[in-house]
Amino acid sequence: MNRHIRAVLLAGGLGVLACGSTAPRDTATTTAMSGADPEITGYIARIRAVDNHSHANSVAPGDSDADALALDGIPLELPVPLRPDNPDCLAAYQALYRYPHADLGDAHMDELRGTMRAIAATQADSFPTWVLDQVGTEVLLANRIAMGPGLASPRFRWVSYVDALMVPLSNTAEAATSPDREKLFPLEDRLLRRYLTDLQLTGLPRTLDDYLAKVVTPTLEAQRAGGCVAVKFEAAYLRALDFDDVAVQTARRIYARYAGGGEPSHADYKALQDFLFRYIAREAGRLGMAVHVHSFEGFGNTYRAAGADPLLLEPVFTDPTLQATRFVLVHGGGVFSGHTAAMLWKPNVYADISMMTLAYPPATLAAVLRGWLTQFPEKVLYGSDAVALGPDMGWELTAWIAGRNGRAALAQALTGMMQGGEVSRARAEEIATMVMRTNAAGLYQLDLK
Ligand SMILES: [Zn+2]
Repeated sequence: MNRHIRAVLLAGGLGVLACGSTAPRDTATTTAMSGADPEITGYIARIRAVDNHSHANSVAPGDSDADALALDGIPLELPVPLRPDNPDCLAAYQALYRYPHADLGDAHMDELRGTMRAIAATQADSFPTWVLDQVGTEVLLANRIAMGPGLASPRFRWVSYVDALMVPLSNTAEAATSPDREKLFPLEDRLLRRYLTDLQLTGLPRTLDDYLAKVVTPTLEAQRAGGCVAVKFEAAYLRALDFDDVAVQTARRIYARYAGGGEPSHADYKALQDFLFRYIAREAGRLGMAVHVHSFEGFGNTYRAAGADPLLLEPVFTDPTLQATRFVLVHGGGVFSGHTAAMLWKPNVYADISMMTLAYPPATLAAVLRGWLTQFPEKVLYGSDAVALGPDMGWELTAWIAGRNGRAALAQALTGMMQGGEVSRARAEEIATMVMRTNAAGLYQLDLK
């Protein structure tokens, strides 16, 4: 999703980002200021993470398979922590590239670019793995159209995009519902054409049953065979997350009427999408893939936050035919984190802290985590949403920033729980390990070292 951020930064003509010149705080200073217990802080710093959500780049030139919704040119407001003058990127350069300076002036930037080029050249195909070693991540889930050179299993695991399968009819009317969607729907159309081409099809089958049997299921099966551990819906960018339980007869009628062309009414198209969402989620569960759902207040100036509320998914989570499917609320619902807490009562629902690790200060995220961890610590997953933000800002920078923030927030939350007598130190350490790695390992059946 941070492709939006990248889009706006680039569209804004910033090109080379001007990072803040304020000297970053070191870990000891940060710990002292936050009041986090130094022992639990140190313990968390040593845990090798499983990162539930990222947009890591391959080393292929241009890396065109990175993103389903590359939203160049979509205007959006950015919160302070995501603005390019934030001092975090200087801290990331210092940590990752041993950058010795306290400013990012032109001369120093040239030197830094030389260092970055040299490391990229030396590491070559190993560069993404080098990044994981720098940021203390053992396994990173990469949300991409397809994997690519440098992103090999077991260190990198694939999370595919499946919204395109949910919107197979003419999207002209849906695209006209907001300026953002006008840019997004054509990208979904393009991805569906790619999925059809992969199956040697030149167009949509004429019946829903054929579409499910010859397009949707084979695409999901191919993704699973290609190593996919989860499928991702970015549906909240396209519509609200209220997926009703629609009868197959209704879906068949709508599909058959419009598969060959024509504009479905919004009500008809919503019903077909609702049916397809649940079908895809059911198939993902059958194939052993989790279902990731974007749930956050951004991004995009005409994005509709109300439609991203995780409570809208409750009927899906409780659908008796979807109990074998594990859902992950990616970005934890953001400002709806309390509603996420309510959804964690469902046995098939998890949440990650990706993007909250970038958009929120650690103290804010710590409060969210404390709420969740006192109730369902086995359902909470670390995540970064690491993504490239510009020519000098590869995904490694946001991987590092999110790692530092996420670990700091977890330390603060667990310190509070220990001080409140809610958990022992031993249990706090256990929960830290669960959040940072073992919950994800169980969910995706990863064989960790
Ligand atoms: Zn993302």
